[in-house]
Amino acid sequence: MINVYLDTVECPYCEYENDMTEGTVDLPDDNKFDHECENCEREFEVHVEFNPSYSSGKIEYVNCEKCGNETREPAKRGKIFPFPQSLDENVVCKHCFYKGHNEDFENE
Ligand SMILES: [Zn+2]
Ligand SMILES: [Zn+2]
Repeated sequence: MINVYLDTVECPYCEYENDMTEGTVDLPDDNKFDHECENCEREFEVHVEFNPSYSSGKIEYVNCEKCGNETREPAKRGKIFPFPQSLDENVVCKHCFYKGHNEDFENE
């Protein structure tokens, strides 16, 4: 398996730098194709790698409505089931969330 960098790929047999500018025009679905080395004329497999894409999200801190602490992973009513019945708040930190669950459990 060979990775394509820029528009040339090195032949695994003779290390000749093959020009790939035309080879990448008509790519099969799996981004792989066979290419014959321009120098030694042996076939090798070329694997095309596209730039990885990253997705990002802001880190958001919210204040727990119960204890007031900042939390990065709040438990939100409507998003997490079951939401503790003993909690009147809609957004709480994990700590209060589990505490709420415990209270539910004790109230039963
Ligand atoms: Zn070659
Ligand atoms: Zn809290």
